[in-house]
Amino acid sequence: MNCICGCGTELGRDQVELNLVAGEVAIELVVWDKARALGSPIAADEVATLLAAGAPRYQDLLATIHAGEEPGERELERIRAWLADSRAARLRLHDQLPVPKKKIKLSEAEQARIDRRHPERSFSGEAPEAPATSEGPELEALLVVALADVRAGRPEEAKRALRRFLSE
Ligand SMILES: [Zn+2]
Repeated sequence: MNCICGCGTELGRDQVELNLVAGEVAIELVVWDKARALGSPIAADEVATLLAAGAPRYQDLLATIHAGEEPGERELERIRAWLADSRAARLRLHDQLPVPKKKIKLSEAEQARIDRRHPERSFSGEAPEAPATSEGPELEALLVVALADVRAGRPEEAKRALRRFLSE
């Protein structure tokens, strides 16, 4: 299994869960960046704050994965707190902003835009350079399915999907 950022780093068995957490953070960042890129004044400060808080957490997760380490319990708590904030904000803002209330679904075109190194720039960033690898949108779709399975309480199915996603 490989690192979620697409760098090709092989993961130890203990890092699968961490990779899943990173995936969850990434998808939340993609959703908020999409909202930011539309330039709506509604809750613009809150969207910016969520992105500013979440993006470094994702980078920390990648650094931890790349170092073959595990995050401290305090760091994991901070990440979970951010995920909870992000979901609560979606629930609160979904009728004012194009953010999903609960389950995140991205179109194929949107999935193709995901920047796995900097998900917080997927929509607002410059047009991406040609990717170094030949990841297709179907792989991003697998990730979305895996995350949906985690939230639905089917971690084993999620792991299978993620394993396919990350072994490509
Ligand atoms: Zn990586």
